[in-house]
Amino acid sequence: MSQSHVSAAKEQVIDLLRPVVEPETGQGMVDLGLVKDVVQQNGSTVISIEMLSPLSPHQEKIERQIRAALTPAVDLGDVQIDWSFRVRSSGTGRSDAQPIKGVKNAVAVASGKGGVGKSTVAVNIATALAKGGASVGLLDADVYGPSIPLMMGAHGRPLMREQRIVPLEAYGVKLMSIGFILDPEKALIWRGPLVAQLITQFLNDVDWGELDYLIVDLPPGTGDVQLTLAQKIPISGAVIVTTPQEVALADALKGLKMFEEVKTPVLGIIENMSGFICPSCNETHHIFSSGGGMRIAMENGVELLGQIPIEPGIVTGGDTGKPAVLADPDSATAQAFTHAAARVAGRLSVEAIKKPRKPMIMFRSV
Ligand code: ADP
Repeated sequence: MSQSHVSAAKEQVIDLLRPVVEPETGQGMVDLGLVKDVVQQNGSTVISIEMLSPLSPHQEKIERQIRAALTPAVDLGDVQIDWSFRVRSSGTGRSDAQPIKGVKNAVAVASGKGGVGKSTVAVNIATALAKGGASVGLLDADVYGPSIPLMMGAHGRPLMREQRIVPLEAYGVKLMSIGFILDPEKALIWRGPLVAQLITQFLNDVDWGELDYLIVDLPPGTGDVQLTLAQKIPISGAVIVTTPQEVALADALKGLKMFEEVKTPVLGIIENMSGFICPSCNETHHIFSSGGGMRIAMENGVELLGQIPIEPGIVTGGDTGKPAVLADPDSATAQAFTHAAARVAGRLSVEAIKKPRKPMIMFRSV
């Protein structure tokens, strides 16, 4: 096949694919520059599609649209789709904050109060994204109770390289804990601005390398420390973790308002301990009431990113240092965590697309 024939075929395919919509953003796949290549070889056609995030649930939908759009093209032969993804940066949500070097998206995981499973959610989201192929870091900024090293089974002290801190690594996730440098007992008496100053300094001193996502486990609550951290850490979006009962929801609402105040997009709410699936009868029992996460999400115009059931294995996984998404990937909780991680990534891709982009010229032969 001649070169000009190949280009013509590409252009024809690209034109046919213009109506195909990327479901997360509602924009055209071609306009977004996600149709990377069209190669015809030995009577078949390979279309390279670059998704905006890992773990995307939309591949099937996109493939169906592609196949329908290509039906009028007679000579494409067998059509195959080659999937990849490339995470875009969604910045910091605020124009005055400099993003952390090398970090495309920093996600704060916050809760209005302690004990709702915030760290468990942070660990499992980070691990699920890494398992999905993304480059991920996890920062334990919970000055008053750093538990992430234990939950990730990571021990030891970080090393220094060229005057920067080298993060530890567990399950493909780069890991730093404020507990490595601060004595939590001493931190308890520090005031917010001092803690925040230390953490932001610390963040920039860590050699994260290139990260698609940095998950930041914030201390629980909405006090002085949390507010200053929310202001100082250049966050792309926040995830609020709550349990379904009313008292927890009232605190979650405070968390939501705190991020609104500092002009940081709230990506959504994760309702943890959302029903207990009885291992003998397989029925869901709503120990802590039900529907609260959905209500607060709807009332505040944010997404309910996931509902994670109670499962005794989570406690064991947390204590033995293996997150649920790896320890028992087929469990209902692991699947709920993976779904929530996909939603976080999806929401971030929408934030990234909102940013002005350079015009893209594709497949034009000269
Ligand atoms: P927080 O960071 O909000 O203080 P943690 O993540 O430390 O909360 O969780 C508190 C405890 O609850 C831990 O022992 C953890 O293993 C357990 N836990 C968290 N989520 C679940 C869940 N969905 N099912 C069962 N236990 C859970």
